[in-house]
Amino acid sequence: MFLETDGIVLRTSKSTNNDIFLTILTRKAGKIEVVANGAKSSRSPLSACSKPFVFGLFMINTSGKMMKLVSCTIHESNFRITESLEAFAYGSYIFEVCHHTTHKNVIEPEHYTLIVEIADILSKQTRDYKLLQLAYLVKLSKFTGHMPNLTDKCMKCGETLDDYVFAVEEGGLIHRHCAGDQNTSYKLNLTFIQILRYLLVKDIRVILKTKFHDKYINKLLPMMETYLMYHTEMSAINSKAFIEML
Ligand SMILES: [Zn+2]
Repeated sequence: MFLETDGIVLRTSKSTNNDIFLTILTRKAGKIEVVANGAKSSRSPLSACSKPFVFGLFMINTSGKMMKLVSCTIHESNFRITESLEAFAYGSYIFEVCHHTTHKNVIEPEHYTLIVEIADILSKQTRDYKLLQLAYLVKLSKFTGHMPNLTDKCMKCGETLDDYVFAVEEGGLIHRHCAGDQNTSYKLNLTFIQILRYLLVKDIRVILKTKFHDKYINKLLPMMETYLMYHTEMSAINSKAFIEML
């Protein structure tokens, strides 16, 4: 059996022989793992596509225990991402988080489209890396089914919110008096909430054309990271250290 699908390489790992294992986020089959036999050799026709960020049409043999990459037509190699330290660091972060929060063989059209779009944006050297990172995390909460409560009603008691906090464990906005002492919460004013709502619904390219003050991004980024790590199975983001080194 063969599967032909568009996809984007999330990560690669090398075997002890000449093979490369690829994790590909595909349009037709969700996240899959395939082996590219002999791809470590630069003479292999599979070597050019066995790299992170490559977007292409993959032909895969699904018969065996381990799926095998047969051929690939590259749409965009996105090689420019690896030429900029910042683009590479943020790209690695987003692709790692995508890997942690997707399940094998589960088709997620919106998540897939966003990842392809983000790779394209990163390869064209955007400047707003932090905004891109934040927008991805906010949209990701929707894809994983953990969209935070951003309505004017308390998540805990259901009454209209006046004085509120963003509570990580409870899943969004609640009254300050409804928040437990032990739980993680962030005090946010209305502007923060409006930004979160905006990032949730707007197209990623529209978001990147909008200017936000750094103080908003810098507060919302660790908050969304904490929020997603609590609600998903993601326990660590290794490439975060890479961003911190920039
Ligand atoms: Zn309440």
